[in-house]
Amino acid sequence: MSQHRASLDIDRKARAYAPVLPVAKQDAKTRLGHFEEIYLTYEAEIARAEASRCIQCPDPAPCVLGCAIGNDIPTALRLVEEGSFIEAANIFRRTSPMPEICSRVCPQERLCEGSCTHGGGVSLQPIQIGKIEKFVIEYQYATEGIPLGEVEPDTGKTVAIVGGGPAGMAAAERLRRLGHAVTVYDANPYPGGLLLYGIPAYKLQKERVVKKIEQLKAIGIQFVANTRIGQDIPLQQLADTFDAVFVGTGASVDSPPRWDGADLHGVYTATEFLIRCNVPVDLQPPALAAKGLPDVGHHVFVIGGGDTAMDCVRSALRLQHALGYSLDVACAYRRTEAEMPGSKSERVNAQEEGAKFDWLTAPVRFIGDEQGTLTGIEFVRMTLGEPDESGRRRPVPLEGSEFVAPADTVVLALGYTPDSLLGETTPSLTTTRWGLIVIDPVTGKTSLPNVWAGGDAVTGPELVGTAIDSALHAAQSITEYLRA
Ligand code: SF4
Repeated sequence: MSQHRASLDIDRKARAYAPVLPVAKQDAKTRLGHFEEIYLTYEAEIARAEASRCIQCPDPAPCVLGCAIGNDIPTALRLVEEGSFIEAANIFRRTSPMPEICSRVCPQERLCEGSCTHGGGVSLQPIQIGKIEKFVIEYQYATEGIPLGEVEPDTGKTVAIVGGGPAGMAAAERLRRLGHAVTVYDANPYPGGLLLYGIPAYKLQKERVVKKIEQLKAIGIQFVANTRIGQDIPLQQLADTFDAVFVGTGASVDSPPRWDGADLHGVYTATEFLIRCNVPVDLQPPALAAKGLPDVGHHVFVIGGGDTAMDCVRSALRLQHALGYSLDVACAYRRTEAEMPGSKSERVNAQEEGAKFDWLTAPVRFIGDEQGTLTGIEFVRMTLGEPDESGRRRPVPLEGSEFVAPADTVVLALGYTPDSLLGETTPSLTTTRWGLIVIDPVTGKTSLPNVWAGGDAVTGPELVGTAIDSALHAAQSITEYLRA
């Protein structure tokens, strides 16, 4: 019996004080040589030992309350502790349509793990729920593959899904399993939305997204690619053709820059930069100005402080291997590290990989040469004033602190907004002035009689888990409507 296995027999108090068994990650030098995932997967005995730290909190367990989709985490952990890995994987699948994705991309530190009883102790760290979930799902993939699951007999009802990202995929699967004929329309050459076109491959290997799409196809979901609803087909036409429509188009339009020089060669939006770094050329959207790896010089600045900014920083650092020369990659953020909205673990990973940070620093303008190519950035130093509407202290420019830094490449990670096209082209669809689709908060129903919406198109940029949760609620309402 291994020392890890022995810990499975310890009593409740000892469980509470057993040290965390974190998953190893590749060293920074190794991971800069590729775009593959950096976290290793638990070995079985270590996963069991880590799961055995769970004290099986009474219902409702804090981790379940903290999970965006209410996964039955205590039961899954008990099964992992017992070595029943497939059964544990299926517990996650009972509430989550894509645990292979959520286990990798959910910010567990803010959700289930952030709520875990162990997180509040003196010397304790939460159970590594996300890494355990990934282990059991990978175990299932390796032993029996992704299960197809049951599909109820055909109902004769048809549903169109607009957008093939996480919300669209979740709604499509739930509705198909209930026997409805489901067709998913997506503007890109391949479904997946931000899972394929936004999240870098070193956080979510694209093969897992492809496998999930293949599973959805195998249960009978039809996918129509390169078709932008509102442009190629009016939304009203879909509403007239199908019994019900779900809109899950996300929020993937880059927020516009407000500085002179943003049109210089060498200035990229986060979307273009991430796609060109992380997505195979044949799957890159036709609307992209250029394809293949971005043209990157020695001095790279990423502007922004969220997870997307870290994605751009870390993608830029990985380009060094392909380019064959070293890059100086820095993130410029107008507040301090304490106000950064992104995950701390992502920041730590970026720092390990060589990223620099310029806190309290904001661009004033981008400077170019006569050919229209970026050569530098004028920055200004900031200080923090009174809290603004976000609750964070407002950054205020320090007069006279302007300076110019040489720059060959700038990536603008300023946040995302929803695509306003559907609102603009569908007169009876109510949207806000920011382009968000207005829904009934209980049912997910829009102002059109047989059209529902969910995910980031309704809330603005949120988590994959919350998008899935809202899509599943809308799917429930659609089902009741179709049965009436
Ligand atoms: Fe286990 Fe933590 Fe959930 Fe409690 S909160 S049941 S200790 S994972």
